[in-house]
Amino acid sequence: MCCFQLSMLSEFIPIEKSELLGEYFSSLTPNTIDKITASKVSDYLDIDVDIARKILMKCKNEGLLKLSLALRCPECGSLIKRLDDYMDDFQDITSCYVCGEENLEVDEKNIELLFELIQKKKSFNSGQQITLFKKQDTTNVALENSMSSYLKSGILDINKELYSISKKEYEALQSLCEEVRASRSKKAKGDSLERLAKYMFNLCKIFRANEIRTSVNQIDCYVRNKAFFPCGVFRIIGPRIIIECKNEDRVPAGTYISKMHSIISEINGKGDFVKFGIIISKKKAPGTYKKHAVKYFLAKEIVIIHICLDEVDSLVQSKGNLLDIIEQKAEEIILDATTDLKVAGLYGD
Ligand SMILES: [Zn+2]
Repeated sequence: MCCFQLSMLSEFIPIEKSELLGEYFSSLTPNTIDKITASKVSDYLDIDVDIARKILMKCKNEGLLKLSLALRCPECGSLIKRLDDYMDDFQDITSCYVCGEENLEVDEKNIELLFELIQKKKSFNSGQQITLFKKQDTTNVALENSMSSYLKSGILDINKELYSISKKEYEALQSLCEEVRASRSKKAKGDSLERLAKYMFNLCKIFRANEIRTSVNQIDCYVRNKAFFPCGVFRIIGPRIIIECKNEDRVPAGTYISKMHSIISEINGKGDFVKFGIIISKKKAPGTYKKHAVKYFLAKEIVIIHICLDEVDSLVQSKGNLLDIIEQKAEEIILDATTDLKVAGLYGD
């Protein structure tokens, strides 16, 4: 590691510690080069594990390290599966090949952040779990390296990780917005708004969005959330989002939210497959929207947020993050609902 790269860590640690980190990196073997963790760095440099996490994320953001995630068995503490992005099939892992436990329930505490030094890259086959980790990796130090501790300390901004889009993509988003404004015919307007929604959601690494038909409805945009971990905004969203596009040149009628309710109710039947809906409209939400959304959340625990074209425009202008907007809007509905719940509990009807 050259001095230029070491100097980027001066905000966290003195230069001697940076040199020690360089020494640690060069001591890595082909077997350990892709298993750098916060607790190992913390031990080697004799620094706080929180600082070690910050250093590793900084090195990752500077392109020195590559981040991958691994699942640690909550029963025996062995690392049992590695993956390279946030939507590998963790949820399919229900048993541990080391201890034999067959009913594993995994959350972000069991997901560990591993870093790999890019300079000495070696090929890695993520398909063969049995030979992935040697015995020495099975000690249980999970919590210090776990995704939940990175999230809790704010070092890992999961929204930024998953919705980090290029200048070109912002520009494409902008021209899709312009297309919506320029469309004249009813069909052209509808199509352009749906295109915008689809594009905007597909920019998130773990979403797959497309229009679909059910036996009773046409759904303008159906988003599958492929994230395996229930944390932050993804805990609220759940596995699916239903999006309705309203292309009218006036404030959409108040009835549109009940149409959304009926689409979601039909899909859910007796289950709770869909927990989240979004109405995207050309014009801003009607005054009655929030009251209805809060009421619906209280009754069904389903969150419906509203995003208008001006807000997509300002997302583009400010190089903002769609996931942050979704999170903020969802919390507004949920928070309001909590207040109403208290009022309802205190005073009754
Ligand atoms: Zn196990």
